[in-house]
This record gives sequence, structure tokens and C-alpha cells, in this order.
Amino acid sequence: MTVQQTTRPCVICDSANSQHYCSYSGLEYVQCNTCHLIYVAKFADNETMYGAYTGGGFKSWRRKFFAPIRRMRSIKGYSHFLQRARDIFAFAKQQVGGHGQKTYLDIGCNKGFLLTAALEQGYDVHGVELVTELIRPFCNTYPQFSEQVYSDKFQDVAKRFADRHFDIITAIDVVEHFEDPLSDLREVHRILKDDGVFVIQTPDIDCRQAGTLGCQWGALKPLEHLHLFGRENFVAFGKKAGFREVLVSDPFEEADGNFVAVLKK
Ligand SMILES: [Zn+2]
Repeated sequence: MTVQQTTRPCVICDSANSQHYCSYSGLEYVQCNTCHLIYVAKFADNETMYGAYTGGGFKSWRRKFFAPIRRMRSIKGYSHFLQRARDIFAFAKQQVGGHGQKTYLDIGCNKGFLLTAALEQGYDVHGVELVTELIRPFCNTYPQFSEQVYSDKFQDVAKRFADRHFDIITAIDVVEHFEDPLSDLREVHRILKDDGVFVIQTPDIDCRQAGTLGCQWGALKPLEHLHLFGRENFVAFGKKAGFREVLVSDPFEEADGNFVAVLKK
């Protein structure tokens, strides 16, 4: 076992005591020897990382070309994705008191299915999505909410909101993408109401696939997934960010192996 000093310490326990985990064309994952967080030792440059999101070349072009005219219903798999979103939103809504004005933020809102599910429940919805084209069909379908979907990094969008603004915040398959997840979680904590709830789903480093597939595990994508958690260290991480209660549970969908966490102030 080789122990190396990485340029970045672990975001959970601040320890620089980590070891090599896997490498992919120049990008290395290390694993913290203390809490077992797996993280990219040194990020790729911004341009390369953003290229991974837009899909590059043809996919990006095709999306840009069709996005201005598309509506939600023309999205392939519309009914399936909307039902999935309704189930996830119902789960989140169960965890919250639900008095007075109902405000919702989806971080990494992708095509806006969770926003749609929240609209059906009478929520005032806000979304954050880095890839502008993804969210265009939602904005075309619900133009009255298009000003409330922001194409920027969460950290920059969060500054718009007062303390204790949201009843429900979700980040489904998103926290693994955060460059500075501790600051991002602290911002979520700040803009969440005292009786609000933050629900996440993220890959689970202790899942069966991670164990059997090693470096072939699908969640290991060093341009996009910068920090990979397990149920145990995520509880410690959530508490470090200021949350009083962090409850982990089985995922909404297995995919490459995920877990869900419900965080309360
Ligand atoms: Zn650690």
C-alpha cells in the first residue's frame, strides 16, 4: 500500500493521508485512509470538465439546434421520467412539515422533471442546471418559471437566495459533481428553512458493483464525479456542513449502486 501526500486534503476529515485508488488517462482517484472518501486528486481543467457535460460535438450541436422548439412532452421517455420524479418528490414532501408558502429548489435539475412534479403539487419552483440546452423544453413548457431556472454553478446561484428560503431542496445524482462539496452543502444549509429538508442521491462506494468491478465501476468518471461517498462518511460530511440529522436509505434507483440521504437542520 503506497501512502501519498495529495495536493488536496479530504473534504470530510481534512486529512491528506490517502492512497491511490484508480487512474484514467492522467486523472487519478485517491481514497482517504481515514474516512474512505474516494476523490479526484487533481481536477482536469475547466474546459475539459465542461466538455464532459455537454457531450461534445454532435450531441451538443443536436441539442442546441432542437432545444428552442422542444417541449417537455416531446422528450423520449416522458411518462417514465415524470413518474420517477413524482415518486422522488413525494418521498421528499413526506419528510417536511409543509406549512405556509411552499418553495422548492432542484440542484442539477437536468430536464426539469422534478420541477414539473413539484409544480403539480403547487410549489414555487427554482432549478439550477449547468447545461442550458437541457432545461429549454421545461422553459418552453412553463415560460412563467423560465426566469427561475439558472444556468450557472450552484455556488453562484445560491447567492440570490435569502437565508431559510426553501422548504425542499433536492440534488439527485449531483453532489458527486460538486467541486467544493463542503461549501455547497453549507450553502444548502443556509438557504433551507429550519424545518425544511434536503434530499440527495449519490453513488455508494460500498455498493456491490464498486466491490466487484473495481476500477471498471461505472460511477468512476473522473471528469464528472469528483467525490464519491459511502453511507457512513456521508453522515459525517452532512454533520460537518451543519446538518443536525442525516438519515441514509436505499436508493430511488440502483443504477451503478447509489444511496439516498435525507438531511435536516
Ligand atoms: Zn477523509
